[in-house]
Amino acid sequence: MLSYQHAYHAGNLADLHKHALLACALDYLTRKDKPLSYLETHAGRGLYFLDGAEAVKTGEARAGIRRAEAEGWLPADHPLLAALAQVRRGYGPQAYPGSPLIAAHFLRRGDSAHLAELHPAEHEALSHVAGFATLHRQDGFQMAQAVCPPTPRRGLILIDPSYEVKADYTAIPRQIGLIARKWNVGVIALWYPILTDNRHAPMLDALAAAHPHALRSEVAFAPARPGHSMAGSGMWVLNAPFGLDGQAARIEAIFRRAA
Ligand code: SAM
Repeated sequence: MLSYQHAYHAGNLADLHKHALLACALDYLTRKDKPLSYLETHAGRGLYFLDGAEAVKTGEARAGIRRAEAEGWLPADHPLLAALAQVRRGYGPQAYPGSPLIAAHFLRRGDSAHLAELHPAEHEALSHVAGFATLHRQDGFQMAQAVCPPTPRRGLILIDPSYEVKADYTAIPRQIGLIARKWNVGVIALWYPILTDNRHAPMLDALAAAHPHALRSEVAFAPARPGHSMAGSGMWVLNAPFGLDGQAARIEAIFRRAA
């Protein structure tokens, strides 16, 4: 049973970290005049509203993108701010892009996109904003196995599970191994939560053993609510585009200063 809904968390500090690095990676990849593929295993609904009931209920965006904008955390020319501005021009000042609409900002004619989202309502909502992509209402890892290696062969896959099932943590290293074997030139980006009980640590150990050269970026922040177990955000990137390590260091420094 799928119960996670990203609308409660859109624009929070974890989204800010993940989306800032995703935007930088896509900015680098699309500077070359060669087509690419963009894949997502867990796409969500694509578009969120920060004045929506879910966002207001948790207040997570207030501590995330709202505060970041008010305090000028990101430089004015940051690729995430360009994607955010485009989405607000289309959908109004309260709109916040999920990863599919961040990708849409960078993708060009001739690029290809495949998005998987299993939840029926989230998939339905996604279908209204993601006309640029082929949508798959199926398990994201099954989609990745079927589509990889994609055409064009250059490109990036974002893996952003909701980690509702404990087994996700053990399945992910195996799934990433399968994707990397089929698509050895693909940029593979995984988001993960930093949890107070360290549940994520064995997954990272397994990934590090299999792919020692991958980029790992982590930021720490106060849990959204007392007792909440997420105390930070991580992005693990295999075959990271040139320059992404510098962008990761910059965003990590921004989070450290803001803490
Ligand atoms: N990537 C999105 C973003 O940054 O805007 C957020 C995605 S959210 C963290 C995870 C999504 O995965 C949820 O919408 C959930 O319904 C979906 N999901 C859960 N299990 C899935 C599966 N096995 N295959 C595909 N989607 C799944």
